Amino acid sequence: MPIQKLIIITAPSGAGKTSITRYLLDKYPLLSFSVSAATRKPRQGEKDGFDYYFISAEDFQQKINENAFIEWEMVYEGKYYGTLKNEVERIWNAGKVPVLDIDVQGAIHVEKQFPGTCLSIFIQPPSIDELKRRLELRKTDSLESIQTRLSKAKYELSFTEHFDKVIVNDDLEKACHETEAVICAFLGW
Ligand code: 5GP
Repeated sequence: MPIQKLIIITAPSGAGKTSITRYLLDKYPLLSFSVSAATRKPRQGEKDGFDYYFISAEDFQQKINENAFIEWEMVYEGKYYGTLKNEVERIWNAGKVPVLDIDVQGAIHVEKQFPGTCLSIFIQPPSIDELKRRLELRKTDSLESIQTRLSKAKYELSFTEHFDKVIVNDDLEKACHETEAVICAFLGW
């Protein structure tokens, strides 16, 4: 059985990790997005089973009881997100490498469980002001939600030293290429 590798991309909300992840997934068919379970409501355009497995808080609790998660977090007040063991196994069984787009605490938990076989990348926004500008531009969050995300981001920025690689996203194209280079080196591609 070959060593099963996995990639974690983490960042404060709005730092650009979703754009970078999409770039990687489009370019490398052997990378596969690990779809998390989440209890928040789908945003416009989001699809169940594609962006997230959107489940109820009761179902989420049931999965915690069944030990179905590699990690889970209450990422925002009352909103739970978790990486499912069977999702990651499904990807490995397909001969692919899972890419986990998860929050900072979740990323630290996963790293501890897969020492040596996971690569963790932290995408850093150039500044908190820039992050605020991006979140406002995205128009998917209320003012209150933006404030919550910004205060969480400030806290998350204090954890950068936990990760294998920190990439500053001051230019999306450059950040995509840097991330790609780190991943290809890790996977020997
Ligand atoms: P959003 O609600 O904007 O889709 O995601 C909020 C945050 O939750 C993002 O930082 C995202 O990376 C994180 N997240 C998504 N799935 C998981 C997961 O399975 N576990 C953890 N810990 N965080 C997740």
